[in-house]
Amino acid sequence: MTSQARTVAFKPGERNLFFHILTACNLSCRHCYINSEQHGTTTLPNDRMLKWLELFSDPEKKTNVIFLGGEPTMHPGLALGIARAKELGMAVTVDSNGFLFNDLLRKTSPEQLDYLRFSLDGADAAVNDPIRGDGVFEVCTMNMRKAVAGGFNVSVMYTVSSLNINHLHRMLPLLKEIGVKRFFIQVIGLRGRSAQEGAGGQGWQVSPEQWLATVPEVAAQAAGEGIHVTFPRVFLDPDEKFECAGLVTENFFVFPNGRVYRCPLCEDHPIHSLEIQNDILITKHGLTEDDLFKLNIAEGCVMNKLLQPDTIDYDVDGKPEHRISCCLLKQEIRPSP
Ligand code: SF4
Ligand code: SF4
Repeated sequence: MTSQARTVAFKPGERNLFFHILTACNLSCRHCYINSEQHGTTTLPNDRMLKWLELFSDPEKKTNVIFLGGEPTMHPGLALGIARAKELGMAVTVDSNGFLFNDLLRKTSPEQLDYLRFSLDGADAAVNDPIRGDGVFEVCTMNMRKAVAGGFNVSVMYTVSSLNINHLHRMLPLLKEIGVKRFFIQVIGLRGRSAQEGAGGQGWQVSPEQWLATVPEVAAQAAGEGIHVTFPRVFLDPDEKFECAGLVTENFFVFPNGRVYRCPLCEDHPIHSLEIQNDILITKHGLTEDDLFKLNIAEGCVMNKLLQPDTIDYDVDGKPEHRISCCLLKQEIRPSP
């Protein structure tokens, strides 16, 4: 099977609502980015969750909502949120660690839930479970099979780190066998727990060389197997166009304490540009993430330069070898029809 590769940015006019409806989780993954000091420990009450969805609904624009946690299926009202988002015309995704609490598959349907995305960081328990927890591989893959059998559109998110990059290619037979049609590969960020566990995230980050030598090739193989793959470009050539997503997209990262960020790398800092107060979305004043987006630097993403300078290599003239694009440009490889 041949495949088509293309670089995709978020589509103009599209809005992406990354909606953290609680921060609690049954797992404690080693790379978890949830930071209760900054994001609180609240579970949004149902009525508030539904009101907040409406704040981000715009009949003129296509809105994608991604329900997140913590573990979003631990929220007893998740199915209500999915149904309301659908009524509002949104495309609905749930990102789950695989435990699918509260009988989610029976409380919602493939008509209402467009995409059910499971996080899995290894093709077997030996790779996945040291990262995500004992027994997680078994539960997650069992529920993936149930979801596929129930007609849900199942995808998988794999967070690449130095702990599992060498095992990435082993995911392909597993995805095929289970019947997963989409595979998202993401790069580990230095946020939350991975940021707190010591300098350099315990060396979990992958080098540009490792990333470039592994990820595009595995993605191409996956497409050859009929799987649609998306992964972040991350390391752009110096002459490639870089745009900060904070300037050119409508991305909203909403937390249950009311903070609303436009930038995923800002989430560990109280510099959010928007906030929900008394169920009204307000713009914050003073120094916020908005002020950083406008800085035009040779390294590309400003927040990456501030938070993860180790990811940037320089040539002998002091020029960055790559511009870093953290969150906007993705490479997508689709199997040919
Ligand atoms: S990464 Fe996700 S599944 Fe893992 S502990 Fe954090 S919120 Fe839970
Ligand atoms: S991660 Fe970087 S590119 Fe993305 S919004 Fe934040 S500052 Fe901009």
